[in-house]
Amino acid sequence: MKVLNIVDDLLSILYPSFCINCGEKTENPYPLCNKCGEEIEEIRYPYCKICGRPLIGSGNNICGGCIKDPPPFKMARSGYVYTGIIKEVIHMWKYSQKRGFSKFLNSLAIKAILKSDIPINLLDGVTYIPLTGTSLRKRGFNQTEDLARNISHKFKISLYRGLKKKKETREQVFLSEKERLKNIKDAFYISSDIPDSVNNLLIIDDVYTTGATVKEATKTLLANKKGLNVYVFTLTRGVQ
Ligand SMILES: [Zn+2]
Ligand SMILES: [Zn+2]
Repeated sequence: MKVLNIVDDLLSILYPSFCINCGEKTENPYPLCNKCGEEIEEIRYPYCKICGRPLIGSGNNICGGCIKDPPPFKMARSGYVYTGIIKEVIHMWKYSQKRGFSKFLNSLAIKAILKSDIPINLLDGVTYIPLTGTSLRKRGFNQTEDLARNISHKFKISLYRGLKKKKETREQVFLSEKERLKNIKDAFYISSDIPDSVNNLLIIDDVYTTGATVKEATKTLLANKKGLNVYVFTLTRGVQ
């Protein structure tokens, strides 16, 4: 670990990085300087205790959406509002092959999970929203797998890669709610690597908008094992 830190330090001296927002030199391989990093807006309470949707005012602690159509997962939580600079960082991370950003986004994810009420001690597995083989080859990495691997390592929870994607879908962020449901329906399947002994599984994704993707993934997991408790953590959440 120490050697890796020294290598990191040397690399940052040899190849200084610059903040993608303001152009200031940063001390590390991070895409943002500390000042711009502080602009990232955290999701704060009050939010729906099921899906994590920010709620205005007090009173109800379950949102209208969850009352009308209860989601299949136990709980979903998100770290940050999907807007502004973090939206830009995530966009570059995924579509401009900036895998180096994973380190920065991993640290944001850990910080948010520690602040959240996700029952970390209860979890006995972590997984992530997969890409199809074709998309994975095109992108070179799966950003949600990078987050999940780090979470697995940090909290010592086993990582499972058994959730697979069988059909190519369009990017959910560009679609209407109705289109999203249709787009993602039957997109996933389970390979044999999630053992039956796993009872409390955490799914990781980068953005939660309507929740269509994580709901579909949860349904697939529940069809494979009835009674499984599924928790969701997404790095960011679109707030309309
Ligand atoms: Zn900056
Ligand atoms: Zn809700």
